[in-house]
Amino acid sequence: MSKVEKLKEELFYNQKHIAKEMTAAEIKKADEFCDSYIDFLNAAKTEREITSFFEEEARAKGFKKFDVSKKYKAGDKVYHVHKEKAIFLCVFGKKDIRKGTKLVIAHIDSPRLDLKPNPLYEADEIALFKTHYYGGIKKYQWTTIPLALHGVVVKGNGEKVIVNIGDGDTEPKFVITDLLPHLGKEQEKRTLDQGIKGEELNILVGSRPFADDKESELVKLNILNILKEKYGIVEKDFLSAELEAVPAFKACDIGFDRSLIGGYGHDDRVCAYPAAIAALNLKDPEYTCITLLTDKEEIGSYGNTGLYSAYLENFLSDISENFGANPRHVMSASECLSADVNAAFDPTFPEVMEKRNCSYINKGVVISKYTGARGKSGSSDASAEFVGKIRQFLDEKKIVWQIGELGAVDAGGGGTVALDVARLDIDVVDLGVPVLSMHSPFEVVSKLDVYMTYKAFCEFFKLK
Ligand code: MN
Ligand code: MN
Repeated sequence: MSKVEKLKEELFYNQKHIAKEMTAAEIKKADEFCDSYIDFLNAAKTEREITSFFEEEARAKGFKKFDVSKKYKAGDKVYHVHKEKAIFLCVFGKKDIRKGTKLVIAHIDSPRLDLKPNPLYEADEIALFKTHYYGGIKKYQWTTIPLALHGVVVKGNGEKVIVNIGDGDTEPKFVITDLLPHLGKEQEKRTLDQGIKGEELNILVGSRPFADDKESELVKLNILNILKEKYGIVEKDFLSAELEAVPAFKACDIGFDRSLIGGYGHDDRVCAYPAAIAALNLKDPEYTCITLLTDKEEIGSYGNTGLYSAYLENFLSDISENFGANPRHVMSASECLSADVNAAFDPTFPEVMEKRNCSYINKGVVISKYTGARGKSGSSDASAEFVGKIRQFLDEKKIVWQIGELGAVDAGGGGTVALDVARLDIDVVDLGVPVLSMHSPFEVVSKLDVYMTYKAFCEFFKLK
């Protein structure tokens, strides 16, 4: 190596492909981890399903339901389900809880199409559902793909019915139709944003009439009759339901080299899964470690299952008081990884990124010091001290990482739960997986990035 090369090596910041930073054995482990992740993607798609999935996993791993009246000690493992849409996994540490907790928080809601309160109608002998989209979507992407329906219906008598239809191979699916190109000339003059309008996101749910008589709306009647038989519900029960239409296709390997995973809702299951598995496998940590999987991030974290609500603060208060500590002191000493995705650089659309400061697939877990829009507005800008501390531990533990902004300045922007965590005076920074086609029905991530994110959470929880 020449003197110049040596100096370059010492002074320049250069990032290699993640595969060059990993051993063959580690890559094999990563691929295996991602096989389980794909199974999870296919098994649990909505906030409610993911909450019950991990509640079950937690019980199997010896976690006990948190009981505020019980006294806990180091090594105890508890879980707490919040209104069926969020779950805490907590392992109490050896250190005094006043030294703070280590938190990893990911969200388990993803962009989707919610049914309107009064969704079912018949038009020209076709039965359809009206929808209201949830989170940021490009509406045209949601037409002509198979959809499944997940959620709950609370009946007039208070009974709750669970709906999960469209994912099984033999189950019927649903679809939003689009115009054929032959007749799409006028539609094609619309802007991309208006290509499919919100009120055109109507889901096709049936087309055969109930019986051969002269009544109108017989197709709708037939659908309601099927729903009555299958779920015991009547039309009015839709008024108190949460039914979510999500893509019905399965997650799978992408590429000849199988290096990537395509699937619905990587944002933010791709962080939630590693965060939960890291908590479930944790033994005797120094600090009290908490994974929280939360709801409502995609619509601003409002609502009492979102992080803008007091429920995180309440749980931290409960566990602090369990050890006789002042919750405020525990929170001020706590540290949090806000586990969320970032937009990966896409060579097809380079203009929205600033290449020196964006994230890339296959460069490891991405730290986002800040998010926001229009001059970092609405962002929790992590301090140099905290980013420095996180950086040091990532390097020490040989975790491949990068730093990334969400797009070029003023190209757009976004937010995460980091600001809600920061409100509690907890040190927090965003850390997660770079994603291609983010918020589309079929997002793409790199397997090695996913595994590196898992490793980051495991090591964060093991901090001394
Ligand atoms: Mn997210
Ligand atoms: Mn998102």
